[in-house]
Amino acid sequence: MIGLVGGSDLPNPPLAAALSGARSAPATPVTPATPVVLDPAPTEETPGHECGVFAVYAPAQPVSHLTYLGLYALQHRGQESAGMAVSDGHTITVVKDMGLVSNVFDDKTLAALTGHLAIGHSRYSTTGSSTWRNAQPFYRNVGDHSFALAHNGNLVNTEELADEAGMLPGMVTSDSDLVAELVARELAEEPEASHDGRALERALVKVLPRLKGAFSFVIMDEGHVIGVRDPHGFWPLCLGKSEHGWVLASETPALDIVGAHFVREIEPGEVLVIDATGHRSVRPFDERAVEPKLCLFEFVYFSRPDGRLYGQNVHQARVRMGELLADQFPVDADMVMGVPESGIPAAEGYARRSGIPQGQGLVKNRYIGRTFIAPNQEMRALGVRMKLNPLRENIAGKRLVVVDDSIVRGTTTRAMVSMLREAGAREVHMRISSPPYKWPCYYGMDTGTRGELLAANLEIDEIRDYLGVDTLAYLTLDRLKVATGAAGAGFCDACLTGNYPVEVPVSLSKAVLEKSGCMPARDAGSTLTLVFDEAAALPADAARQGPSRGRSNE
Ligand code: SF4
Repeated sequence: MIGLVGGSDLPNPPLAAALSGARSAPATPVTPATPVVLDPAPTEETPGHECGVFAVYAPAQPVSHLTYLGLYALQHRGQESAGMAVSDGHTITVVKDMGLVSNVFDDKTLAALTGHLAIGHSRYSTTGSSTWRNAQPFYRNVGDHSFALAHNGNLVNTEELADEAGMLPGMVTSDSDLVAELVARELAEEPEASHDGRALERALVKVLPRLKGAFSFVIMDEGHVIGVRDPHGFWPLCLGKSEHGWVLASETPALDIVGAHFVREIEPGEVLVIDATGHRSVRPFDERAVEPKLCLFEFVYFSRPDGRLYGQNVHQARVRMGELLADQFPVDADMVMGVPESGIPAAEGYARRSGIPQGQGLVKNRYIGRTFIAPNQEMRALGVRMKLNPLRENIAGKRLVVVDDSIVRGTTTRAMVSMLREAGAREVHMRISSPPYKWPCYYGMDTGTRGELLAANLEIDEIRDYLGVDTLAYLTLDRLKVATGAAGAGFCDACLTGNYPVEVPVSLSKAVLEKSGCMPARDAGSTLTLVFDEAAALPADAARQGPSRGRSNE
């Protein structure tokens, strides 16, 4: 069995030919040349994405092309690297590289990746740096067994698992790599005679219950595709059926794009095995640990608006958030405008419910999507202008209701409000379709330290003053859950409440706990309390020093 990563030493002639051009994968990590990366994408005011995973089992179909399309539909979930593994029943071939799906794969590469099952991944890094080494899928070859694994989520017991397994520093470089190694070690213990095709399944049943945290996996060996969702189901994973086979995907639009129809969500704690006989479920977790806690921000921001979660359309849920926001925090104004693209659906709901006309106040550059290296920190301010520019003719002299889905660090929102003022806005009333984002996410979202979160140590009137808006209001948590249309279905809301469904250990091996001056200290139950280093509170400092423009506090 052959595991192939990178663009050299290629044992597969067609693939070697395909990869021999400029798109050959680098064999060494990529390091930025200068320390400041100006990212004009809207990452400061909304939490970053996690990862996208996709898998297909479809005999006689172009599974690499289908996986490409699926990953393309999931590109918003991670843009750092992309990869796929394809099996023809005998050989697993893996291609992965840094960059967007369209950068990593071209027609020649895809044509050479032949087989009837595949998994794919688009990455946003959490544990483990953004390097080629950590791009996914991960591949292992153990004796007669080989497999590939792709992960959406983040484990909170990575260090503990690595210690238990006696792994030396550098042996694995991310939580996903660690899981692949643990599975490989279980496979190595398989008796030689047990060639019943279920070795990977047995290894997973042993390894998965040891994992703590968030994980939606797609895994494959030469003849099986396996989907796994952790007992809380933090991140979505759904099953689709096409005329020719089965599909697994992080979001339902990835089913649509390959012509598959939605069958159901993989249940929290479920392991779904797909092979030539169809599919079957295995449930390796203690059933007492199974408690649905879907990330609430999938509804607020992460998921595509054309997707479905808990049986609800995401766009409609966001419109309802805006309606409830208008009910809860009305204001006299001339125009409702959403911050592109994240605030548009909730602005639609706010306008509909309030009766205030909806208009466009900001133009988003359609062609932004890549980062570039900026010479200094001051260049960051220009990043806001690069992605958003005010529509002066629509704004001047108007009292605006500006709707967005969340505020994480606040720097972009502050710059945007300043632009609206400069363009002649008479009043700016900020409305946010989720509660204040106060706590770091440890389950697959890199939101930075608590000191970087604007709402962590500021009251709403202080945030209002920092942003320079006339009024500021956030949708309450109960209304947000009602707006999803699935209030009782079970959600993680830890970044809003500090109630972490899976306890975050003090020894969590994330740089966020080492660099920020934040030391975790546990109080009751599973709630994590972070002892905050005031010196790191840059937004708070700025807010307390800056002039107050606010006139009311809602
Ligand atoms: S902490 Fe927040 S972003 Fe992270 S999984 Fe929970 S709800 Fe989602």
